[in-house]
Amino acid sequence: MELDFAWLARRVGVVVNGCYWHGCVVCAGAKAGPSAAEWAHKVAKTRERDARNRDLAANHGWRLVTVWEHEDPEDAALRVAEKTRQSA
Ligand SMILES: [Zn+2]
Repeated sequence: MELDFAWLARRVGVVVNGCYWHGCVVCAGAKAGPSAAEWAHKVAKTRERDARNRDLAANHGWRLVTVWEHEDPEDAALRVAEKTRQSA
C-alpha cells in the first residue's frame, strides 16, 4: 500500500489520486477511440487495487483520506484535519 502522506502515531494516511489515472467518477467522461475499452479495463484494475488498499488499511486500524486531483485543496485539508482529530 502506498501512502502520499502518513501520520504514523495516529494511523492516518492520505492518498492523492489523479482523476484520469484512478478513474474519478466526478471527472469521468466518455473515452473515445479504439483504445477506449483497453483504457476502461486498466482504470477498472486501478480502482480495484485502490479498494484493496483501503480495505487493507482499515483492517490494520488505519484511517485513510482519499484526496482527488479535482478537489479544492482547502476542503481536502479540512477533511484530513478532521480525520486526524478523530484519531487523537
Ligand atoms: Zn476528479
